[in-house]
Amino acid sequence: MVSEDLVICPARITLDAAQLAFFGGLPVAAPSVQSELGCELEQGHGGSHAALGQQVDTTMWWVQWTLSASEINPYTWCPARGELATQSEADEDCALFVGHPGRHSSVKRAWRNEAA
Ligand SMILES: [Zn+2]
Ligand SMILES: [Zn+2]
Repeated sequence: MVSEDLVICPARITLDAAQLAFFGGLPVAAPSVQSELGCELEQGHGGSHAALGQQVDTTMWWVQWTLSASEINPYTWCPARGELATQSEADEDCALFVGHPGRHSSVKRAWRNEAA
């Protein structure tokens, strides 16, 4: 039973050629990044929108954007791992980056599986 529904920000971004080239150049054996990404923060969050583009070892490359600009920045995982266990029965880790705005989220980016 879910005690609170976390509503995810509906903002989306389409990566430009340079951003796709950046992700394509990362040393990972992962599938290529989708050209369109959705914000993974809580709806109504402050600051820039953010979507995880790619993960290389312990570094996560997040695309962050506003109405006027976008950039790709490296982050590590949010340290709130396991703390969410007090909020739900499942032992879930926060799936966002350290210092993210809004509430912790263990949402596993269901939209990522749409094309899988
Ligand atoms: Zn957002
Ligand atoms: Zn968090």
